[in-house]
Amino acid sequence: MSDMDKLAENISKNIEMVRQKIEQAASSAGRSSNEVKLVVVTKGQSGDVLSTAFMAGIRTFGENYPEETIKKIQTLQAYQGIEWHMIGHLQSRKARIVAENFSLLHSLDSVSLARKLDQILSEQNKAMPVMLECNVSGEETKYGWPAWDEDQWQVLLADVSLVLKCRNLVLVGLMTMPPLFEEIEGTRPYFRKLYALKEFLSREISAEYFKELSMGTSADYAVAIQEGATYVRIGQAILGPRPNYRHVEENVFTK
Ligand SMILES: *Cc1c(COP(=O)(O)O)cnc(C)c1O
Repeated sequence: MSDMDKLAENISKNIEMVRQKIEQAASSAGRSSNEVKLVVVTKGQSGDVLSTAFMAGIRTFGENYPEETIKKIQTLQAYQGIEWHMIGHLQSRKARIVAENFSLLHSLDSVSLARKLDQILSEQNKAMPVMLECNVSGEETKYGWPAWDEDQWQVLLADVSLVLKCRNLVLVGLMTMPPLFEEIEGTRPYFRKLYALKEFLSREISAEYFKELSMGTSADYAVAIQEGATYVRIGQAILGPRPNYRHVEENVFTK
């Protein structure tokens, strides 16, 4: 068997396993797995890995770095129907790359970024769905709106009204990245908190802007689904370890 065949076999097997686990987690919480959308996180992976995932039926890729994504879009231009989701911290000066090439931003984390994106999108006469990244753990290294303490939710409420004034952004939900735990159960309180925040914002503003919850990675997606995730962002459990990615990995979850 060639290396490419082996890769294809592994990725297909992993997708099957992840889909089963999504199914189990959803049904254990009385949910339908149709409510859970899979984003395959491709940062640091080669064009071969991405095209193999495409062949295996994956159409939604999650990326953290705009420039890296541009290269992959060029590599994969022969493939139709790929959606690129931005899941990492977005610097304002790269907003244009995202406005032009991505179909959803999971990680909107400031009003100023919202305004910048909105302006670029309005020039292009298009709209982009976004989620608000929220820091529900209080870890200083994390991006996102401070939201670990309910006292902070009023501030967030005010910022949400400002985001809603950006007419070319379509607010669809919330996203979070919990702290890393050895034990998967350690993450549950953070997913619960994001769910509670969604309930709060739905009550105070309108449920239509908070339908989606993007939470759960390879390490903890089963728990995230039990706690209400509608998007899971899974990389390594499907594609295998990210080769030679340690140096940037530090930046992935943290400032
Ligand atoms: C890298 C990354 C993931 C995926 O992590 P895996 O361990 O590969 O599943 C999910 N979300 C964000 C924000 C990431 O940066």
